Amino acid sequence: MFFAIKFEVLNTMATFDHIKIIREVYDAMHAAAYAAIPLEACGLCGGVGNTISKFIELCNDDASTEHYTMKPEEQFAAIRKFRADGLSLRGIWHSHPTSSAQMSAEDLRLAYTEDVIYFISSVMPENEYELRGYLVELDKSYEIRIEVV
Ligand SMILES: [Zn+2]
Repeated sequence: MFFAIKFEVLNTMATFDHIKIIREVYDAMHAAAYAAIPLEACGLCGGVGNTISKFIELCNDDASTEHYTMKPEEQFAAIRKFRADGLSLRGIWHSHPTSSAQMSAEDLRLAYTEDVIYFISSVMPENEYELRGYLVELDKSYEIRIEVV
């Protein structure tokens, strides 16, 4: 889970119909997801507007194959790094080593933070790598199209 931390309110992401991810970030998520197998990996994404330009992998404190917990001190450190680069928290990412890139019931239950995209990378054995992104509002998730730039 991502601990509920109060961030400054940003312009709502719900106005975007898609999110852009720079190639280096896309590749870093891909590499982190595979490197963590059999465990779930997790991390935070920084950017401006609807463009994600920085990814910081965090330790999965649960060291679990089915869920993740980010350490609050690592979250704060990542957000300070984003701010130092003039970026804001725009995404919360984790991997699914044994399931598809759909939000699980638990993912939805623990999605406290609005105005960010929840990214999930699926690295299921014998399936193609898949990255999906979701906005969550009022306990419902809406998939948002990802464009790698
Ligand atoms: Zn999940």
